[in-house]
Amino acid sequence: MSKINENYLNLQGSYLFAEVAKRTAAYKAAHPQEQVISLGIGDVSRPLVPAVVDAMKKACDEMGQAGTFRGYGPYEGYDFLRNAIARHDYQARGINVSADEIFVSDGAKSDVANFQELFSADSRVALQDPVYPVYLDTNVMAGRSGIFEEGQFKNIIYLPCVAENNFAPELPQAHADLVYLCSPNNPTGSVLSAEQLKKWVEWALEHQAVILYDSAYEAFIRQDGVPHSIFEIPGAEKCAVEFRSFSKTAGFTGTRCAYCVVPKALQIYDENGTAHSANALWMRRQSTKFNGVPYIIQRGAEAVYSPEGLQQTREIIDGYLANARVIAGALKKAGFTAYGGENAPYIWLKTPQGVSSWQFFDFMLQELQIVGTPGSGFGHSGEGYFRLTAFNTPELTEQAAQRILKLK
Ligand code: PLP
Repeated sequence: MSKINENYLNLQGSYLFAEVAKRTAAYKAAHPQEQVISLGIGDVSRPLVPAVVDAMKKACDEMGQAGTFRGYGPYEGYDFLRNAIARHDYQARGINVSADEIFVSDGAKSDVANFQELFSADSRVALQDPVYPVYLDTNVMAGRSGIFEEGQFKNIIYLPCVAENNFAPELPQAHADLVYLCSPNNPTGSVLSAEQLKKWVEWALEHQAVILYDSAYEAFIRQDGVPHSIFEIPGAEKCAVEFRSFSKTAGFTGTRCAYCVVPKALQIYDENGTAHSANALWMRRQSTKFNGVPYIIQRGAEAVYSPEGLQQTREIIDGYLANARVIAGALKKAGFTAYGGENAPYIWLKTPQGVSSWQFFDFMLQELQIVGTPGSGFGHSGEGYFRLTAFNTPELTEQAAQRILKLK
């Protein structure tokens, strides 16, 4: 008899986006004359930039020619892309990351989901609440969560991020071995300052813990002084892994390309206390389970760093950030308390007193024909909040803002 991995039975139904879609579809069916605007989407709406498309076409031609065709590529990514990443995203900012610490992948989702495999099954996990659900679910699958009781898993250390602590996670009271931090944050749109990150790095070094730092929205950071990488903090190379993605930076959600930085200085320990290189272990894992990102896609990602690519992708992100300002501005004028949207594509608003996240969802849909995402879907501490995104077109974003202003 084939037996199931019982951990999968512990997973809580991810009904968030399914429920959003169901309620939206029901409303549209009952009100076919209304134009519903989605500010719920976490996907980009602008196409790939010309610099990227040209590079992909050229790479495509190479793949059709006998002399330049390529089969399997390196598991860890082609050197041309790893070098471009190391140079532009790190060395140009004075951060000491080398190309052999970079692993190219098909997505930050896969990387943040898979990295936990390197750690023992009894590792204690801490994560921000609310947060991107993949961190929790993959640890549930790996058997680290314990039982689910009163809305939370027993063995997970939840770090509430709410208005009262400026959405900054506080250091765990109990010991943790692995900590997931996400900055700029999905869903709160908040960022961690250098001072806050320094506290976390010091804590991790003291506890021999590892920080899994998800910076998929790094390209949205516009405020001076906000760290673009955890490796700006001295000592982070001994306790952190960083995840980044071309998805939101350059519209690669459909074409798929991302990377993680696994420093050579990062060691993890076996039962006898013997240290092992996380970089070597990750290489071993990737070479066993992953066969690399297509050459054509990696050439497209490389073009993001060309002068044209940098300019074209920056303009697109500037457009999304302009959308975010339009939404946040309208919310504030209408009397809401809204956060985020300055260094992130997410606006996180407080629902009115006594109104739950789902009640607010229904209100926005029925009264304004705007779809957002209930904060409670991202975790216990997201209750009483609501997420809007800046990824729609400027025209529809402006129309949504006008509808919000009617609530003034
Ligand atoms: N990390 C966070 C915080 C995200 O919000 C997302 C996507 O929404 C991802 C990672 C996934 O990125 P990718 O498209 O590179 O898999």
